Amino acid sequence: MTDVAADAAVVLFSGGQDSTTCLAWACARFRRVAAVTIDYGQRHRIELEAATRIARAAGVEHATLPCDSFSALGGNSLTGGEAVEETAVAGRLPNTFVPGRNLIFLTLAAAWGWQRGIPHLVTGVCQTDYSGYPDCRQETMDALQAALRAGLDQPPLTIHTPLMHLTKADTVRLLRDLGRLDWLALSHTCYNGAVPPCGHCPACHLRAKGFAEAGVADPLTA
Ligand code: ZN
Repeated sequence: MTDVAADAAVVLFSGGQDSTTCLAWACARFRRVAAVTIDYGQRHRIELEAATRIARAAGVEHATLPCDSFSALGGNSLTGGEAVEETAVAGRLPNTFVPGRNLIFLTLAAAWGWQRGIPHLVTGVCQTDYSGYPDCRQETMDALQAALRAGLDQPPLTIHTPLMHLTKADTVRLLRDLGRLDWLALSHTCYNGAVPPCGHCPACHLRAKGFAEAGVADPLTA
């Protein structure tokens, strides 16, 4: 790898609220920013369209990488035919958990960045008010960063997690303070793929709660 892009970052970018906030955070921090979206066979293709629209609005390079093995795993509601569980079930992860997803996505984004000499990765994982996904925790990110540094022989590789300890309301305020709240009018969050958002799935609930607590109107539903 070269160091021509030492001040550049790759944002793992789904087109949802969190990764859109990460994109704005990265644009304010790095000289050059690129967005990488993974097409993993998600049921709702609208997510990919949202990602493309927001990247265009941000004026950043945008790549969509195919990764179609997750739909073959079955057993979860985001790539399979199962309905999204509306309430948590004690003692196990919700069926919106796609095992291995963040690990593989970040590895793909790191590989894409490696080819371009980009050592910084930005991801919207958050352990604050999420569903307890184990691949969103800081210790998982620390371990993955160590693995990627070794496996890519790229010691400066850094995984940035600007949302890790923020509440949803904090995330809304962060994007507002970065002056990019308008990008959320193009975003997509609903687990049911509904436009306008369904308003009752866990993702819609979490998003609405965050905006309400921040005292900010959601540009997607306003
Ligand atoms: Zn919804």
